[in-house]
Amino acid sequence: MDPELVSDLGRRFRQLMTEKRQNHGQMPPDNTHTSSPPPAVSQTQAPQPDALYREVVRLSYVPQRFQRQEVLDKALDTLDLGKIYAWADEFEAQDAQLGHQDCVIKGLLKYFKTEFFTWANEPKCSKCGGETQMQGVQGPNEEEQSKGAGRTEIYRCEGDASHIERFPRYDDPGTLLEWRKGRCGEWANCFTLCCLALGSRARWVWNAEDHVWTGVYSETLKRWVHCDSCEQAFDQPQIYAVGWGKKMSYCLAFSSEGAQDVTRRYVRRSEQSLPRTRGSEESLRRAIRDINDRCRAPAGRAKLAEEDEAEERELSAYQAEPARTVPGEERPRESGSTAWKEARGEMGK
Ligand SMILES: [Zn+2]
Repeated sequence: MDPELVSDLGRRFRQLMTEKRQNHGQMPPDNTHTSSPPPAVSQTQAPQPDALYREVVRLSYVPQRFQRQEVLDKALDTLDLGKIYAWADEFEAQDAQLGHQDCVIKGLLKYFKTEFFTWANEPKCSKCGGETQMQGVQGPNEEEQSKGAGRTEIYRCEGDASHIERFPRYDDPGTLLEWRKGRCGEWANCFTLCCLALGSRARWVWNAEDHVWTGVYSETLKRWVHCDSCEQAFDQPQIYAVGWGKKMSYCLAFSSEGAQDVTRRYVRRSEQSLPRTRGSEESLRRAIRDINDRCRAPAGRAKLAEEDEAEERELSAYQAEPARTVPGEERPRESGSTAWKEARGEMGK
């Protein structure tokens, strides 16, 4: 596509998205730029919050990373919109069940996996190009911290023991638009941002067994759709339990609109589940209730509560019916080295 046309497309799209966000009140009021969570929700007359409650409330602040206007703008400036929309048109011609926006997300998934982002195992030595070995994890240095790294992995060159490679793990999705590599944390972080930038409602989905992915609301399918950018997976929620053979306990979804326990979308049979021992089910429900009270503006509450009920019916149905799979759900994990997948119990059956 003509570069000038693409840049014009980006400009008009940004303006449209800004208006849309303002009209829907999607930007949070005053905590837009805070990256660290404010103090815990006040607990008048409520039972003492346990570790699970505190963890879930802490996770509920992650979507604030995606709610900064300048980072959403940067995403639109960085992505190759011409390419994503051309692929979206192709996907749309292939599948009459999906809406245009679903196909835009499929185009974004393809772009992420085939062009934009790179999976990172151990980094190669920048001096000799040889293999490196992990030595441990440190706090980030000043520069890494200023760009939003939470920690830095340290690797030693196998050929020259005096040479050290640092691999900062960035949490800031704005930095990740330039850095463009990492493991599932970086992928899900940056992909969730890009879904929002392209005008979808998106959730960041956290799994207690060390995985994260994205959920996108489909206006056509009228439900939340599983998206895993590392695997270029669209609407294949059983890929972990069936394809990877991964056992899971909690899958929790977070957005600027609140939190939801979505485990039943991903874990549909008892033999796929791990025991939920991080706290009581009551404290999980209470945490979600408190988060939703905090995040949801009074005007939008009734509609979101209706959506919660519809989602509850959907999730209950997965437990009631025999677990069928859709094409692609039974495939093994693509991202990550064999040793790494073995260590995580994700090699499939
Ligand atoms: Zn080296």
